[in-house]
Amino acid sequence: MKNLSFSLLALTSYVLLSSCSADSTANIASEFSVGSTIEGKTKPISKQACNLGNVQITTDFATGRMDECRLIAKNKYLITLVAENTPINSSPWYAFKVQAKKQTDITIVMKVRGDKHRYPPKISHDGKHWQLQKYRLNGDRLTMKLAASTTPLFIAAQEIINNQYYIDWAKKLKSSNSIKHEVLGYSSQGRPLYKLESRNKLSKEWLVILGRQHPPEITGALALFPFVETLLSDSELGQDYRNKYNILVIPNINPDGVYAGNWRHNANGVDLNRDWQNFGQVETQQINSYLEKLVDDGQKITFAIDFHSTRHDVFYAMPVDYGMENPYFVRHWLAALDTATPNFDVVIKPGNTPNNGVSKQYFADKFGVHAITYEMGDNTDRHDIIFIAHKAADTLMKTMLSNADHNKE
Ligand SMILES: [Zn+2]
Repeated sequence: MKNLSFSLLALTSYVLLSSCSADSTANIASEFSVGSTIEGKTKPISKQACNLGNVQITTDFATGRMDECRLIAKNKYLITLVAENTPINSSPWYAFKVQAKKQTDITIVMKVRGDKHRYPPKISHDGKHWQLQKYRLNGDRLTMKLAASTTPLFIAAQEIINNQYYIDWAKKLKSSNSIKHEVLGYSSQGRPLYKLESRNKLSKEWLVILGRQHPPEITGALALFPFVETLLSDSELGQDYRNKYNILVIPNINPDGVYAGNWRHNANGVDLNRDWQNFGQVETQQINSYLEKLVDDGQKITFAIDFHSTRHDVFYAMPVDYGMENPYFVRHWLAALDTATPNFDVVIKPGNTPNNGVSKQYFADKFGVHAITYEMGDNTDRHDIIFIAHKAADTLMKTMLSNADHNKE
């Protein structure tokens, strides 16, 4: 994969990002326009602020989080990141805003309580255009120097994609396509869970797409958007596909976690992607009920994709001998993707994790069909993520429309 310059970001040594290569900044984001209009939504400000005279470091916006902020020397601040609860997957999220009444050079030191950093810092003035920020990692302390000024500067673990971003995205899609954007249910704190649907009355088969179970997994979201846009495009292939298959997209399953800037869990401190068996949480309960109702109404769930991020690009699949229909379907699709993306190595990891409550297992166990966890690397080049997603959607549509026999290799 073409993320060589980005791999220099590995948080394992003293790395000054800008000295790695001029491209490393360009790769992620220099004019990479994705992200949210960051509005000053009211958020409780307690320990999550350093409002000390000239300089203000605050988190009073959706997704904002830094847990604790302290002045430790002149113009030097210590920010401590704390998980919403433990045990938890190590994905320390942070997003904060720096502003000063007059230009001031400041130093920010970030540490993670009981854990270590995962995300190299990014900065933005508008929440849409992001660049990598220089930093130094010394043990568990990440240090960066910033110029605070009257113009707010956002610093975040990954690009900020807040709940509003999904709504705006869906509205744009809806205006150019015959799709429905509706509320499927509500999160435990009462935030809407939206669904997008492309439904053709002649078809009974459904592709299901899920996203953002884990709030910091932004590269998964960056893949979901172009993937869905390709499925819903006006291309001949897109139209043929939608004549045969219905599409259900639930792009943002954990809006409470997204709002709070959680590392992984929902508002009740539960990992939603471990809840697809017990259904202890309203988010998974309502999606399960909706899918059950579709099936009760004579519809069929045919395939599902759940978008996430991890350290590397990988597609977690069910094993071919797990007993689903069309056992070789995922292999055929991903082989086509591999051919369509010469610079990208498609890595498939089949796995069976019974009683783990993971969504892909739920689809296999409950509906007897394939599902995959589509994982993009945290630091994968953002343009590559989009390219791969377009090709993945194209090859998926072709594979599902072909007459190939998926019962054999
Ligand atoms: Zn995940």
